[in-house]
Amino acid sequence: MKKLFLFLAFAGLSLSTASAQKKIPHVYRTCNEVYNRRTEIVLPQVNGYNCYKADFHIHTTYSDGRLNPGGRVLEAWSDGLDIIAITDHYEGYRNVKKFFKVTARFNPDGQPTKYLSAFDSNSLKMDFNAIHDEAVAQRDKSGFDMLIIKGCEMARNAKTHGHFNCLFLKDLNTLYNKDLSVAFDNVHAQGGLVIHNHPAYMRGTTDKSEFHEQVYSAGKIDGVEVANGYSFYPPIVRRCIEEKLFMVGCTDEHGETARKYGMLGTYRTMTFVLAKEMTEKAIKDALLKRRTISYSAGELIGEEELLADYLNAAVECRLTKVDNEAGKRTFQLTNTTSIPYRLRRGKLIYELDPFRSVTITLGKNKESGKYIDPEFSVTNMWHVDFKHPLVTLEIDK
Ligand SMILES: [Zn+2]
Ligand SMILES: [Zn+2]
Repeated sequence: MKKLFLFLAFAGLSLSTASAQKKIPHVYRTCNEVYNRRTEIVLPQVNGYNCYKADFHIHTTYSDGRLNPGGRVLEAWSDGLDIIAITDHYEGYRNVKKFFKVTARFNPDGQPTKYLSAFDSNSLKMDFNAIHDEAVAQRDKSGFDMLIIKGCEMARNAKTHGHFNCLFLKDLNTLYNKDLSVAFDNVHAQGGLVIHNHPAYMRGTTDKSEFHEQVYSAGKIDGVEVANGYSFYPPIVRRCIEEKLFMVGCTDEHGETARKYGMLGTYRTMTFVLAKEMTEKAIKDALLKRRTISYSAGELIGEEELLADYLNAAVECRLTKVDNEAGKRTFQLTNTTSIPYRLRRGKLIYELDPFRSVTITLGKNKESGKYIDPEFSVTNMWHVDFKHPLVTLEIDK
């Protein structure tokens, strides 16, 4: 007992000596990680093209968004995007208006300062291109490999006209015209493209208005949002196929994608653009040739053939066993991408999660006596008329 007491006393003494010797830091970093982490979204190469991840519709504090252009770049990069376009409202820069209202009392003449609205030639001058420049400056400072396309969103009466994204612009300051269809001509004169946004917004229908009939038939619309945030507009797929317009899926983000998508465990709404390289020219060409697939909350929307090619590139189908006696073949399906696919055969559903495999056994067709092909209805893919594509997987490709 006495020995034990002596030992404890000695141990206590040496502990207090050690702590006296150890210098206590004034600052201790609880995490030495760099915080530029990023979500990597792995997609396949389809028909020799890369699948670039793009969001062509984003707002900042320059209109009615909650993040500034630099913040949008950091957010998009963290979300795993390759391409973005900042598309603030062109005719109403609400927060800028607010800013000048607040500063009005400092004006020497006591008059409230007017912000620049494209309607008003007497207003304070503002360079509309500055929004894009801010985004580019952040990208370059951060060293991100990201393409930023110069754009804006034009709008008139939501019920009769609606909202339109203008992309691949050169100079935002010279686009405005009171007549929206003339403004579209100005966009095209700069080599830009016009996208009809959220086609059911405030209208409850995707049917065209009189104005839409005019501008569509005059060839002034190049693409349509088939998905905006969590809204998917099924009738738009047929319109795009028939009128040779490209389909895009966009966030139209005003708040923060981490709250809207990240918290639900889904990627943000986006467009997969199939292009050889990530240049403005190649991306614009891919849009005009309609090589796009839209993604919204795990659902993929596009033309049937492209969806089938995409799935075949994303999923490996290996024949692992042939039992001729039992008349059965076994396949291993491996999802090589970050996107889950839901495959259905009759009543059976195969959830093909990212980077996982499923093994399936298929028999013979009773009538023909031939082996059944690995053919599936892909229920998280949508093509024309709200239908799922039927895709036959290539075996051992
Ligand atoms: Zn809009
Ligand atoms: Zn918008």
